[in-house]
Amino acid sequence: MNKTDALIIGAGPTGLFTAHQLKLIGLDCEIVDNLDKIGGQCIELYPDKPIYDIPAVPECTGEELTNNLINQIKPFNIKTHLGERVDEVKKEGENWFVKTNLGKTFLTPNVIIAGGVGSFEPRKFSPKECEKFENKSIFYSVKDKTIFEGKTVSIFGGGDSALDWAVELSKSSKVNLVHRRDDFRGAQATVDKVHELAKSGKINLYTKYQLTNVIGNDNLESIEIKHDSKEIKTIKTDFALGFFGLIMQLGPIADWGLNIDKKTVAVDTEKFETNQKGIYAVGDICSYPGKLKLILSGFHEGALAARACFKLARPNEKYRFEFTTSSKTIKDRLGVKSD
Ligand SMILES: Cc1cc2nc3c(=O)[nH]c(=O)nc-3n(C[C@H](O)[C@H](O)[C@H](O)COP(=O)(O)OP(=O)(O)OC[C@H]3O[C@@H](n4cnc5c(N)ncnc54)[C@H](O)[C@@H]3O)c2cc1C
Repeated sequence: MNKTDALIIGAGPTGLFTAHQLKLIGLDCEIVDNLDKIGGQCIELYPDKPIYDIPAVPECTGEELTNNLINQIKPFNIKTHLGERVDEVKKEGENWFVKTNLGKTFLTPNVIIAGGVGSFEPRKFSPKECEKFENKSIFYSVKDKTIFEGKTVSIFGGGDSALDWAVELSKSSKVNLVHRRDDFRGAQATVDKVHELAKSGKINLYTKYQLTNVIGNDNLESIEIKHDSKEIKTIKTDFALGFFGLIMQLGPIADWGLNIDKKTVAVDTEKFETNQKGIYAVGDICSYPGKLKLILSGFHEGALAARACFKLARPNEKYRFEFTTSSKTIKDRLGVKSD
């Protein structure tokens, strides 16, 4: 069980800056995000697009903003749990008991939901039977490519992820690339490379096919794919990888007893606390009169929620407001020299 002063759900810009604010005032925190990378919408939806309305930063891309936020919290060595969705939040005495889908547990007086538009989840294969092979023979992202070495891997999808992995895995695996259309949506250079590898027999290309069935006991043994013309093929395969993009869903947040309206969580504007004491919501996920779904709003909301956490995490201490420019304590926490 991990014990912390505050648990942040979501590693988007709001969650990252809220972590900074908590650590500046001397509170511990940990961050959990369902994605396998840090940055929320900025990194998942528009890493290369320039943003023009971050105060004092005339222009930066989603990726640059994320990297700057990561650099800003680097001195604090904050524990971040990626690729895990928070599924359960329930009261345990004075604390909140929090559990992820991978079974990791936390005990904390403060939960800060910085969940944006909900957790990003991969779009999955439609046959129901795929579920029993998930994370064994069927994957929607690649964490360890070595497990595919020398095996047959059937990759589904027509975008950059499917194409990139088809090219990469064809170096050491037998690769089938299956797509429901004839044309691919990825970068032209990668599309050309895939066609070149198909011509030389390094990739088996199946276009206008979709997965209709999976066969196997503990592990996948073969798959059935169906052509637009209704013809069905059975292919022996050890693994199937699906790259169909992400969907965003509020998911488990809806089950935690919070005041939810139109997929957002109602909060006050003093502490950004929800209807549950010690649970706060900041960034895109929160709602209050006048809310703007902008990154700068999330920063402000996180700063106030962090101060509110102090009372529950340190009930016998008084929070003292200090400027970063002049506080020796804050400079010590940041590991910078005081004048
Ligand atoms: C194309 C585009 C352009 C934009 N341009 C601008 C702009 O120019 N300026 C601007 O200010 N804003 C812009 N925005 C909006 C901005 O990106 C959002 O306001 C911002 O990302 C919100 O940050 P957040 O941290 O609140 O949420 P998010 O960035 O959505 O991050 C939330 C994170 O929480 C995680 N999460 C959710 N539920 C769970 C759970 N149960 N367990 C674990 N993790 C969970 C998600 O996986 C996600 O990573 C743009 C948005 C888009 C889509």
